[in-house]
Amino acid sequence: MRIGAVRERHDLEARVGMTPDSAIQLQKLGYACLIETGAGMRAGFTDESYLAAGVSVVAESQEIYAQADVVAKVRPPLPNEIEGLTPGKTLISFFHPAQNGGLLEQARAKGVNVIAMDMVPRISRAQKMDALSSMANVAGYRAVIEAGNNFGRFFTGQVTAAGKVPPAKVLVIGAGVAGLAAIGTATALGAITYAFDVRPEVAEQIESMGAEFVFLDFKGEGQGGAATGGYAAPSSPEFREKQLAKFRELAQQIDIVITTALIPGRDAPKLWLSDMVAAMKPGSVIVDLAAERGGNCELTVADQKIISDNGVTVIGYTDFPSRMAAQSSALYATNIRHMMADLTPARDGKLVHNMEDDVIRGATVAFEGAITCPPPPPKVQ
Ligand code: NAD
Repeated sequence: MRIGAVRERHDLEARVGMTPDSAIQLQKLGYACLIETGAGMRAGFTDESYLAAGVSVVAESQEIYAQADVVAKVRPPLPNEIEGLTPGKTLISFFHPAQNGGLLEQARAKGVNVIAMDMVPRISRAQKMDALSSMANVAGYRAVIEAGNNFGRFFTGQVTAAGKVPPAKVLVIGAGVAGLAAIGTATALGAITYAFDVRPEVAEQIESMGAEFVFLDFKGEGQGGAATGGYAAPSSPEFREKQLAKFRELAQQIDIVITTALIPGRDAPKLWLSDMVAAMKPGSVIVDLAAERGGNCELTVADQKIISDNGVTVIGYTDFPSRMAAQSSALYATNIRHMMADLTPARDGKLVHNMEDDVIRGATVAFEGAITCPPPPPKVQ
């Protein structure tokens, strides 16, 4: 069978779903690989590098849709991209089925099987395919680099002949995958890093990354945030008030805020309010990784960098992984080739879509003319 990757059409998307390295591994699974010309250019992979890896480079995306049995891409497909596929073919990409009901129905009606990389169950066995985590890791790192690029000072403290420089103080709100990556990057750069999360169990992880856990003196349960399956649930009004009061206290001393707080299925909670921005020193930076879901900061504008009246930079980019397209593509393409390995048990280039496999079942959102999401709960944890 053949697997092909196309050039992403979205302006803010520089990643690609197949790299020369992943293509070599896919060929070891028995697949012939195809790529649209220029598909890897924005991520630093030339047509020549694909050719050297044994990939056929074709001129038009339509040829990929016509020739490939499996199409790998990054962003959810455009309607005409699904139209280009014939029944029985498999599409692997981020799909966000809950937000893309129309696309999902189109794929179902067309008889296209869809594997949504954002629906891979977050269980240990599936970590190698967990593209949400690999991309959140890149986003957390890049958020700190972006902050550093907009902060006119060092992160690390220095004593030099030209004067003493205090270390930057960084606050990370939300310590999931992206938040922990941001903590690791900020501490590695020498900042004093604080981190807050409603899930008290992350305190140990925060501290192991070299940051200080911002603890709330709250008499309710735990750190106040109810949680299901490792995810946060909305906080009680009393807890929220305590949390905001703590942030107000910190706002005057913090130089950089990285916000990553999300609650599944909801808009991002507003946690860094206008008065907190107003209390920050001029030159401070806020990077809001929740911008796509409305933002954790009240001043965030999605896909923009703004400067507040008091000189605080607020960054709301929604394409952090794409801003590190070489690294993101390498990790994402590896996630995909691991998915393909599980779909190719005999390593003979023949895709076996085993819906009894929890991971494959969980990620499959359309199969043989039926919508197959949400999936039943996984049997294996
Ligand atoms: P996420 O993107 O859903 O949320 C980011 C963080 O924001 C979470 O830590 C959440 O607790 C926090 N948050 C929500 N509301 C907040 C508030 N009001 N104030 C402060 N923080 C708030 O999280 P994620 O990165 O997708 O990770 C979610 C969970 O999944 C974690 O427990 C993580 O360890 C787990 N996980 C498991 C696997 C695996 O086992 N394969 C893989 C990835 C993640």
